[in-house]
Amino acid sequence: MKKLVFATNNDHKLRELKEILPLEFELLSLNDIGCYDDIPETGPTLEINAAQKSYYIWDKYGINCFADDTGLEVEALMNEPGVYSARYAGEERSAAANMLKVLEKLAGESNRKARFRCVISLVIAGKEKQFEGIVEGKILTEGQGKAGFGYDPIFMPDGYHLSFAEMEAEDKNRVSHRGRAVEKLVEYLKSHQ
Ligand code: IMP
Repeated sequence: MKKLVFATNNDHKLRELKEILPLEFELLSLNDIGCYDDIPETGPTLEINAAQKSYYIWDKYGINCFADDTGLEVEALMNEPGVYSARYAGEERSAAANMLKVLEKLAGESNRKARFRCVISLVIAGKEKQFEGIVEGKILTEGQGKAGFGYDPIFMPDGYHLSFAEMEAEDKNRVSHRGRAVEKLVEYLKSHQ
């Protein structure tokens, strides 16, 4: 089987990928390859960060790899928090504090348009290919729902009357930024074996 590292230790993301990846690929996590490094994500864009992570693994271990990086882009905030989504309200990476900061900055703002953008960087034999997934929606005036993670309670995708945190995981994955980027990745892997 062809080994492919997913540069994450997020079990949820790993499980999701294992279910849809073509059978010829053996998906490995960072733990599986004994990588416990704090992989740098210091770039100014999602594209650069995703590539930084996938090339880190390729350069150090010589195994084909992909990595993802996601940002919430709020139109009225000039696409903030974007690449800084995880630590928007500080280094402690608190989802509640991050959401509060977005809600406070948007107080009184009628333009609530926002999108999640996910970039996947795939490195095969040292060559990179990127895949982008976007879901458009809006920022609610307060959190709704308990499922999911991150900004899910305050984000409602276009065409739905539920926040991401009120949707079944399967439904969220079907429309989500990551779901869409992963779909493109899998298509590519299937046609370039
Ligand atoms: P990552 O690149 O997947 O680690 O995502 C960076 C940050 O974006 C996370 O810490 C979350 O705050 C946010 N984020 C990414 N994906 C989602 C999602 O599906 N729902 C809500 N927030 C997300």
